Amino acid sequence: MTVKAYGAHAGDQPLESMDIARRVPGAHDVQIDIAYCGVCHSDIHQVRSEWAGTLYPCVPGHEIVGRVSAAGAHVSKFKVGDLVGVGCIVDSCQHCDDCADGLENYCDNMVGTYNFPTADAPGHTLGGYSQQIVVHERYVLRVRHPETQLAAVAPLLCAGITTYSPLRHWNAGPGKKVGVVGIGGLGHMGIKLAHAMGAHVVAFTTSESKRQDAKALGADQVVVSRDANQMQAHINSFDLILNTVAAPHNLDDFLTLLKRDGVLTLVGAPASPHPSPEVFNLISKRRSLAGSMIGGIPETQEMLDFCAEHGIVADIELIGADQINDAYERMLKSDVKYRFVIDNATLAG
Ligand SMILES: [Zn+2]
Ligand SMILES: [Zn+2]
Repeated sequence: MTVKAYGAHAGDQPLESMDIARRVPGAHDVQIDIAYCGVCHSDIHQVRSEWAGTLYPCVPGHEIVGRVSAAGAHVSKFKVGDLVGVGCIVDSCQHCDDCADGLENYCDNMVGTYNFPTADAPGHTLGGYSQQIVVHERYVLRVRHPETQLAAVAPLLCAGITTYSPLRHWNAGPGKKVGVVGIGGLGHMGIKLAHAMGAHVVAFTTSESKRQDAKALGADQVVVSRDANQMQAHINSFDLILNTVAAPHNLDDFLTLLKRDGVLTLVGAPASPHPSPEVFNLISKRRSLAGSMIGGIPETQEMLDFCAEHGIVADIELIGADQINDAYERMLKSDVKYRFVIDNATLAG
């Protein structure tokens, strides 16, 4: 079946309207009419071929929400009409240790929602800037938020799980002091989630102007990271710092803020490396420098349910598909609070 989509034919070209093919749902497949799709920073990197190996045409989008419009004969979890989501993963090997543990995000054969090889035309996956998507039910999530919040649920599927998973893995909660570096698409979710988990949340920003915004999101304290005195006041005090910044920067500034056995975990992916940290800052307090990439399917469902229960959604700006190229330019200037979401009804033209 042919559906409308927005994508690029080459890395140096803007996104434009195009027709793409979706497979007929197989026995285990769910067909979803996409209502909204969030715009993630990795969409820009991949559509512009800033990371290696972009396959064209490239239709980005891995923060997908919508309604089931067809279900294969063996689909057991979903029926037509259900509100559902799809995040960054649409397939994996289903039998390795990672898949068995529900950590499909770490499967060596994980298939991303766009720009990954697949048997379907045109030979690689095409994402959520489109009217419909067909996905094996294992990789489809149930959305329990009210439908009126659906657009703001979309960014939970990447920005939400990317921050939720490390917060859970390193036990953010009551009695823990948790830092969130960067107040953007990822960071604003990290603040909301860490706050809802009961941690004492400190937001780090380079800009004094974001202080009130960070407090409104749930930060207990705000530190301007360029101010050495403000930083020094928090030395040796954090259990966990979640670093969402994708631009290379000095990690020692944050490592020294960790208490003994504290963890600095990176979730932003810079195109060029951070400067190597000072080893003394790790060994002197048995600190860890770690990383985390999205989350598995069971944990993504847990995150969505946690957010529904706590009334958490992303702060969004809804756009039409024809505004996507302008939205990319604004994202590069951090001119969005905090996530653009495409109204996929506008794809019909
Ligand atoms: Zn993403
Ligand atoms: Zn696997």
